[in-house]
Amino acid sequence: MTDAHRGIVTAHVTKAYPGVGRPAVDDVSLNIADGEFMTFLGPSGSGKTTMLSMIAGFTPLTSGSITIDGREISRLKPHRRDLGVVFQQYALFPHMTVARNVAFGLNQRGRPKAEIDRRVADALEMVGLSAMGDRFPRQLSGGQQQRVALARAVVYEPRALLMDEPLGALDKKLRDQLQREIARMHRQLGMTFLFVTHDQQEALTLSDRITVFNEGRVEQVGTPEDLYERPRTLFVAQFIGESNALRLTPGEVTIVRPERVTLYAEAEVPAGHQRAGAQVTDVVYVGDHSRVWLRYGDGTRGCAVLPAGAAHDHRPGTDVVVAWHPEHQAVVPDPEHAGLTEKVAS
Ligand code: ADP
Ligand code: MG
Repeated sequence: MTDAHRGIVTAHVTKAYPGVGRPAVDDVSLNIADGEFMTFLGPSGSGKTTMLSMIAGFTPLTSGSITIDGREISRLKPHRRDLGVVFQQYALFPHMTVARNVAFGLNQRGRPKAEIDRRVADALEMVGLSAMGDRFPRQLSGGQQQRVALARAVVYEPRALLMDEPLGALDKKLRDQLQREIARMHRQLGMTFLFVTHDQQEALTLSDRITVFNEGRVEQVGTPEDLYERPRTLFVAQFIGESNALRLTPGEVTIVRPERVTLYAEAEVPAGHQRAGAQVTDVVYVGDHSRVWLRYGDGTRGCAVLPAGAAHDHRPGTDVVVAWHPEHQAVVPDPEHAGLTEKVAS
């Protein structure tokens, strides 16, 4: 009974800015489980920051409710919500040392000095900055500053850690490194992490589950595998990974991932497989596999990933039959078809 209320629950959360067309966040209901690593993924402008900001308490809701462990929090001030927050910009106090930056929230809460010292030391150790406590933010690299921000956000053991594109300002190598550290922090702390990114690879790597946003609405919530193998909308299929999106039946799009198709000559396709004719447009050798780019009969682009060596016969211009087992396809509504029926109806 009480278990059903554990975690962060948003019910019909909407944010409409006056004078702006569609709501920035439109009727979003989510259950974020205790200890879960949940990522909000979507293109720029899809409502991720607005949603996170409503949970953190910096943006008031237009309607809906947000509870943590069953307690309504949507009208509480940010500092009463017991949530740690990290933004893309590090926002450290420039005139304070690293240790004092991390201690800031604990000082504000009036914790005893011995406890503060111990917690700050633990937090700095967790982010690998034990030796940097006496430095000032300007003496640190961008990646180090963001680690300080992480340490500062978790030092008082909040109920959850909220991060809005925290790695967005870092170069790729640092981003990969900090991704691994954030994953380790999550395992170590067992805390609920709520992470925002527009980078699908980052989302797939880090998350227990992902919420895909598009134009303020939730397209799908699922594990990385759910979203990749069983997308429920064309948007999800196209935003996450490569796909072959084929209009084989009216009103629907059949999605097959590049790893799930095999290329055949017409006569060889095994019984029970789905098939579509295509022409090879390009073959890219990537070491352990080859990527064969395709153009289907209706002009749609797609691709096949083949084991190394298996792509030899497929030269640009060759006609092939693309085949797959039906268990590896996902059939989603065709948004173009829906658009047409709406237009007819109105
Ligand atoms: P994301 O973080 O996914 O890029 P945002 O939540 O920042 O998206 O923005 C969602 C939508 O809300 C966008 O269309 C954006 O222009 C709009 N928006 C965000 N903040 C404001 C604001 N303060 N006033 C008006 N519109 C806003
Ligand atoms: Mg944003």
